[in-house]
Amino acid sequence: MTTQRIRDFLATRRPDGPCLVVDLDVISDNFHAFRHAMPDSAIYYAVKANPAPEVLKLLAGLGSNFDCASVAEIEMALEAGATAARISYGNTIKKERDVARAHALGVSLFAVDSHEEVEKISRAAPGARVFCRVLTDGEGAEWPLSRKFGCVPQMAVDVLVYAHQLGLQSYGVSFHVGSQMTKVDAWDSALADAKRVFVSLAKQGIHLQMVNMGGGFPTKYLRDVPSAEAYGKSIYQALRTHFGNQIPQTIIEPGRGMVGNAGVIKAEVVLISKKSDNDDARWVFLDIGKFGGLAETMDEAIRYPIRTEHDGDEMEPCVIAGPTCDSADVLYEKNLYPLPISLSIGDEVLIEGTGAYTTTYSAVAFNGFEPLKAYVI
Ligand SMILES: *Cc1c(COP(=O)(O)O)cnc(C)c1O
Repeated sequence: MTTQRIRDFLATRRPDGPCLVVDLDVISDNFHAFRHAMPDSAIYYAVKANPAPEVLKLLAGLGSNFDCASVAEIEMALEAGATAARISYGNTIKKERDVARAHALGVSLFAVDSHEEVEKISRAAPGARVFCRVLTDGEGAEWPLSRKFGCVPQMAVDVLVYAHQLGLQSYGVSFHVGSQMTKVDAWDSALADAKRVFVSLAKQGIHLQMVNMGGGFPTKYLRDVPSAEAYGKSIYQALRTHFGNQIPQTIIEPGRGMVGNAGVIKAEVVLISKKSDNDDARWVFLDIGKFGGLAETMDEAIRYPIRTEHDGDEMEPCVIAGPTCDSADVLYEKNLYPLPISLSIGDEVLIEGTGAYTTTYSAVAFNGFEPLKAYVI
């Protein structure tokens, strides 16, 4: 969504080169929508989605907590005004010395998904609270997180028993249903798994207190997505189904859903050409591509809305590619992207829904192209 504030900024500042403009008012609206839709869940913003200091500061001021994946992200959240008590170290893959540094900074909530990680935490952050991540199938997510994180529920039981034995506080269960999850009922089966872990541990005298329901809340790209409200209703229903009237503390960790629609990338058409005289599709080369911040176009997973000044004109399907000399730097080719026939070299385009997972994915200087500039307004 290109807000009037973003339009005004671009019109008056006329920044050169590709850049992201983020409207803080949209993030504030998103925060309140989550707060309202899930009033009983604590919000832990997933810092990696957009760690701009202004974004973190806004969210810290609104009362958000923070899901961090590294010591650097923890320091950014602290810098923005969050206390250590409001930070979760949610990465299941941590160096022991980073656990120690987080512990020294006062962080006391850690994710694990293995016995090996529990051992590190028991040594480097004795007495800390840990939650174990369980695998989900990612079915229905447009950017699934695969099998990299989490373990099967039966192993989660063993991991949490082990944590208890090593003097840690076995605190809860986490999962992530997959990013850009467009099915509102995707949390149901993961909550059923979480409940089974709670029951198994209770039988051994260990009483878990928290379910971390992760991120996955979508942002609008080309297709409409259900509202935060719809997710809230469906998730609450699933909590009632599986936990009855003993619903534990819950956490949500929105990243994309918090900042995605707040950002717009301004880019420029560098070249429009064909590969042969009878080529069906024109190739449109932009001054931003996979290495400039649009990495989520990998496998054409995320299809961003692209606005031009000629949107009322007749359209034709195009290949869209980035400016670097890497042949992987093609955004859309398997599924051609309709753009106006009147679009020409030098025109500006607006790539919407780019507030999440763009600046952080931008390369430092591939082919000498600068990293993606961001303006937060
Ligand atoms: C990336 C991540 C999130 C945010 O996911 P979104 O799909 O962007 O909401 C939340 N929790 C964890 C542990 C993550 O790694």
